[in-house]
Amino acid sequence: MNNPLLNPEEKEEAFEQTVRPGSLQEFIGQKKAISNLSVFIKAAKQRGDALDHVILSGPPGLGKTTLSYIIANEMGVKIRPTTGPVLEKPGDLAGMLTNLDEGDVLFIDEIHRLNPVIEEYLYSAMEDYKLDIVIDSGPNARSIQIELNHFTLVGATTRKGLLTAPLRARFGIDMRLDYYDVELLQRIALRTADIMGMGITEAGAHEIARRSRGTPRIVNKLLRRTRDFAQVESLDTIDDKIADKALNALDVDNNGLDEMDIRILKAIIENYDGGPVGLSTLGVAVGEDKGTIEEVYEPFLIKEGFLQRTPKGRIGTKKAYQYLNVDPSKTDRD
Ligand code: ADP
Repeated sequence: MNNPLLNPEEKEEAFEQTVRPGSLQEFIGQKKAISNLSVFIKAAKQRGDALDHVILSGPPGLGKTTLSYIIANEMGVKIRPTTGPVLEKPGDLAGMLTNLDEGDVLFIDEIHRLNPVIEEYLYSAMEDYKLDIVIDSGPNARSIQIELNHFTLVGATTRKGLLTAPLRARFGIDMRLDYYDVELLQRIALRTADIMGMGITEAGAHEIARRSRGTPRIVNKLLRRTRDFAQVESLDTIDDKIADKALNALDVDNNGLDEMDIRILKAIIENYDGGPVGLSTLGVAVGEDKGTIEEVYEPFLIKEGFLQRTPKGRIGTKKAYQYLNVDPSKTDRD
């Protein structure tokens, strides 16, 4: 993991592998989804079947990839990971599918970015475990059918709204991951610190957790950066003081909001007097796709009580005014 030959992205990936929970039991939070999933896995194993296809949706860093590896682990099968945009030609998909053994998991990350032609091929593979492909071209073109082993497709997406209805309908298990509460993130921080052999107090873990935007990946990243600060100050334990100092030095917001969250709140409050403002207008104001605002940013802001969704549009709450230091009575809102 500390291999100096790895570039920063590879290092991050290697670190994530090390701290990734390997079983349903180790996975912290998302209680309902996890307990349902464990029933489905148990039932499929009892029947000796492949698990039904699974779609995992939710913002980045909440554990979709982790869960897909756990599914394979718990089913006792291999996982073949790929991502939507990598599958360019039907042959790419055929190559992946024909390499699967009985029950294996094919994991397609960013499945909303699949080429529509590939998606069409997936339909029969998912439904009947058959692949019809056309070989040759012109007068020699003919279609051949390949029988596949029963497999489980696990698709992950941050933008479920972009999936076509026929693809969505072919997933028997549909799981949405939500942002984590501070208490769960604190447990994740303590667990990661333990794996990494770092000393940390409950209060130190809490400080990192509450500023991690509801996201386990951010907890782990901030934990590592905080450790650097502790190390240069010759501290062998991360407490809330050094965590606060490190997070301030890293410009991590006191509420864990990121730049886009702040831009969204500012647009609603400063440009539209607190709202209501429609999603499309908001998208233009902050320069972000409206679907991404709806599926990735807004859920966190609503969960934390900064934003409300109304039939007329989005409204900034009192908490948002306080956060931005704006007096609500100074705007035109009644
Ligand atoms: P996604 O695929 O949703 O972007 P990942 O599965 O890659 O997210 O998770 C990012 C990191 O967060 C992983 O390295 C993993 O260690 C950690 N993580 C995610 N969910 C959990 C959890 N529930 N418990 C502990 N660690 C988690």
